[in-house]
Amino acid sequence: MSSASPLHSGPRIVAVGGERPYDIAIAPGLLADGAALAAQVRGKHVLLVSDSTVAPLYAGAVREALHAARSELVIGTFVLPAGESSKTLANFSAAIDVLAGLGATRDACVFALGGGVVGDLAGFAAACWMRGVDCVQLPTTLLSMVDSSVGGKTAVDIAQGKNLVGAFHPPRAVFADTDTLRTLPARELRAGLAEVIKYGAIRDERFFRWLQAERTALLAGDAETLALAIAASCEHKAEIVERDPLEKGERALLNLGHTFGHAIETEQGYGSPDNDNLNHGEAVAVGMVLAARLSADLGMAPAADTERLETLLQAFGLPTAIPAGLAPDALLARMRLDKKNQAGRLRLVLWRGIGQAEVVADVDEQPVLAVLGGC
Ligand code: NAD
Ligand code: MG
Repeated sequence: MSSASPLHSGPRIVAVGGERPYDIAIAPGLLADGAALAAQVRGKHVLLVSDSTVAPLYAGAVREALHAARSELVIGTFVLPAGESSKTLANFSAAIDVLAGLGATRDACVFALGGGVVGDLAGFAAACWMRGVDCVQLPTTLLSMVDSSVGGKTAVDIAQGKNLVGAFHPPRAVFADTDTLRTLPARELRAGLAEVIKYGAIRDERFFRWLQAERTALLAGDAETLALAIAASCEHKAEIVERDPLEKGERALLNLGHTFGHAIETEQGYGSPDNDNLNHGEAVAVGMVLAARLSADLGMAPAADTERLETLLQAFGLPTAIPAGLAPDALLARMRLDKKNQAGRLRLVLWRGIGQAEVVADVDEQPVLAVLGGC
């Protein structure tokens, strides 16, 4: 890996190493580059998975580009209704039916065109069809460009919880076409920026300061600045997942703010365009502040760093306080169910300050409750 600093990034290709290495390309216009997309297809069968918002915007162009480059390709399409509620076993099964209908062989390629919902479901279908075929991620949200399309986690949700059925299945390639961010709603852009800020908070204070300086350009959707932020974020994630692909250690750091955030999301009910509940990125923003405050309360980190984090998140239009009406003990009960916990004790990602996250086992509940109660 090269330096993770955005100040020195050259061409926007991030290489992800490990047993099955792949490249993340970040640039405008990638979805129109039929030759590059088609070069990823080893056989002739393609399944293009997208959702009902993204497909009308971009799926036609991708199909045309693939066909123009290789007219012999047989391309099936599967479009999910947009939203988290589509990440189901039923839709997974429907995607598999399309692969079967195509007569897709082991050299087939699944293209995931959309946000993390499409990427997770399409990736899981690719992981399972004939015990695993290629998957190319074409992320169209900032969150999926900096997070879900990288690292090989795929999953669907079941009634008992999110992402409970899935597989590790790294993509063959990732093409992040920054032109697609132009149609992304501002609130979704900010949700992705929360995860971008997370990388600075976990392991790169210099990046944190760069984000502070570039916030106006980033919020305005400036393509070049966004590409720098995406590349830096992907380099951070790549470095971590290369060393710990199956989340046995260091990869847990990527969950800074997530235990608190998930408790808020589940207690409030998941966010959707039809309600005002916090979306994932917003809940993570609040969660990071709570983790920072707890770290300060435990004497691990300076309180001034909590303030810097809050100020930065607020400058990006992100929330930093628990929404009204959520009871501290109910949130704590949700946190007790987190997958990171061991032997019935809370295990949290906390920090020593900006850029220095660490996993802390055996956290007492009393100070957590105090932070959840805002005192
Ligand atoms: P999403 O896929 O639901 O996309 C958000 C919304 O934006 C959707 O309504 C979508 O239709 C719309 N949209 C997408 N691209 C658009 C574009 N270019 N223009 C206009 N609208 C567009 O949500 P998300 O935030 O991208 O991803 C969240 C999902 O990712 C969750 O299911 C989460 O569990 C998963 N996730 C997975 C990982 C992983 O490692 N696999 C990591 C983080 C999150
Ligand atoms: Mg997240």
